[in-house]
Amino acid sequence: MTSDDRPNPVIAAQLDRNNEPTADRYRWMVETVQEVIFEADPTGAWTYLNPAWERLLGHSVEESIGRGFLEFVHPDDRQANLDLFVETISTGKNQCRFEARYLTASGEARHMEIHAWIFRADDGTPLGSTGTLTDVTVRRLAELELGRRATHDPLTNLPNRSVLTERLSAEITAMDGGHLALLFLDIDRFKLVNDGVGHDTGDHVLRVVADRLRRAAPPDHLVARFGGDEFVIVAPGCDPQASRELSARLRSAVAAPIQMWDRELTTTISVGIRVLDASEAATTDPETLASRLLRDADSAMYHAKETGRNRATTFDLGTRQRIVERLETESLLRSALSRGEFELHYQAQFDFADERPVGAEALLRWNHPDRGLVLPDAFIAVAEDCGLITEIGRWVLDEACRRLAEMPELRLAVNVSPLQLHNGLVNDVAAALRTTAVAPDRLCIELTESAVSPDPASARAALVALSDLGVRISLDDFGTGYSSLSQLQQLPIDEVKIDRSFVSRLGSPDGHAVVTAILALADALGLETIAEGVEQRCEARGLADLGCTTAQGFLFGRPDTFDALRTTFARGAVSSRHGSGSSPRPSKLSLRRHSLQS
Ligand code: C2E
Ligand code: MG
Ligand code: MG
Repeated sequence: MTSDDRPNPVIAAQLDRNNEPTADRYRWMVETVQEVIFEADPTGAWTYLNPAWERLLGHSVEESIGRGFLEFVHPDDRQANLDLFVETISTGKNQCRFEARYLTASGEARHMEIHAWIFRADDGTPLGSTGTLTDVTVRRLAELELGRRATHDPLTNLPNRSVLTERLSAEITAMDGGHLALLFLDIDRFKLVNDGVGHDTGDHVLRVVADRLRRAAPPDHLVARFGGDEFVIVAPGCDPQASRELSARLRSAVAAPIQMWDRELTTTISVGIRVLDASEAATTDPETLASRLLRDADSAMYHAKETGRNRATTFDLGTRQRIVERLETESLLRSALSRGEFELHYQAQFDFADERPVGAEALLRWNHPDRGLVLPDAFIAVAEDCGLITEIGRWVLDEACRRLAEMPELRLAVNVSPLQLHNGLVNDVAAALRTTAVAPDRLCIELTESAVSPDPASARAALVALSDLGVRISLDDFGTGYSSLSQLQQLPIDEVKIDRSFVSRLGSPDGHAVVTAILALADALGLETIAEGVEQRCEARGLADLGCTTAQGFLFGRPDTFDALRTTFARGAVSSRHGSGSSPRPSKLSLRRHSLQS
């Protein structure tokens, strides 16, 4: 077949007559084969090129004749090719085979396999060469891709774990004084994105985070994907101070909103830092040290998660001990539900207007077999991380509704974890209400802003469904998160709960201004307000003056048993009954009178 795919009539006729090769048939073969066939003089200049040269590389045959082959070779491959050419010619070899990238007329690189035969005179003097150039680009690129896949994570394109461990050992071996830091990074609440919004979104978030980390880290640092939502950075020369600065840079790079096709997500990372100095590096072999560094940085990251996420923790000797304790907590927590070790305490909430208890917040307690009554801050994060929170949260809802059924004048607020919001909260609430036949508006669901911010669109859908059930929704710890005004407007919220940190700063001009602003904002949006953590009389007075409607805090009473709550309600207005450890509390009536006088 000719190059334009029509049979050559002359050749066809010759084939018909006999099978003997003819000059025409040789020429036809040479002109139609896929491979480049060449001849070159002893200096490597082309003396003959078949049409495949032009077809494959786009250079005109006419213009290429007389030019040295090296001119067409990719600059990066020229020296190696020249060396090979000189070696073949000068050592008396008769053939050679090698690979080089040739440039097409448009500058694109093609991988060519070259097979050349050298002609020599009887005394060995080279007379020239002939041979073939075969285009092996497709095969070579496939091989390169396979090689890349063995060392890189296909989703994020970052080096994988095997590259990481090799590089870490190499950096330890090469240490010559100074420091080396290892940073272990984990995306906060990634499960929430993956389970709640979908794996495509999860993949997108991983790619964006990987890209941001790579850009934020200096070029001589290795950024690797360790697995799942975990990344590791090897930072040569980083001392403790520099590694803290680096982790701050990485965290702020990751924290920028991530634009999705139909929504905007925000995500944060927790970082564990382990710094190695040269003296420690000298004591142990690099492989053992590399795996110890990884384990320690992972432990420090774990600790960063436990102490609230979105932070960096540097490994110290106490870190490992804390991890052991945490694992114990987790294992005991797994059986706590079946052993009936949870209980709810209740902290009453008071109305500023008529000074009577109007409701209460249910607060979870764990009767730990050794440690006694454990407060939620010590175990909620653990329960969230190991996924137990959904089950525990369901128990809290059932128990709260059971108590509501026992006390018709009560309204109860229940805290829920962000993980519950995306894991059947609406069904759980509906079931608890149905079983106990409690009116939905007696139950209030308290959520923090962080439950809403990772994915406002899907949080909104869950909140709308909750609101449709008739339950009330309160935004807890208000002011500490990042809710934007537009987000607030779009969510079906009934109440904001002013965080204790603002209440305690009410005495300062700044604190006063913030609380005033929150109350004005709530008023403009038609939301009710409650202040939490009210401890001082002056705080209560200030809040009442600014128009806050409800208050909760140690000044009025600590969280206590259900029986204690009943007593508080039975007494009506402010009672003297307190939970353990509380100080006597003044009458709200006297507070109000005082505020009017002042
Ligand atoms: P929160 O929802 O902001 O609850 C208020 C916390 O502040 C309670 O701590 C309460 O005892 C404390 N508090 C109340 N008044 C005062 C005061 O005047 N001064 C001070 N310093 N503190 C005060 P607690 O019970 O340790 O709960 C801590 C957090 O644990 C809660 O914060 C809530 O986020 C979480 N939590 C509690 N129960 C549950 C639950 O059932 N499920 C979930 N997911 N989280 C819960
Ligand atoms: Mg709360
Ligand atoms: Mg709160």
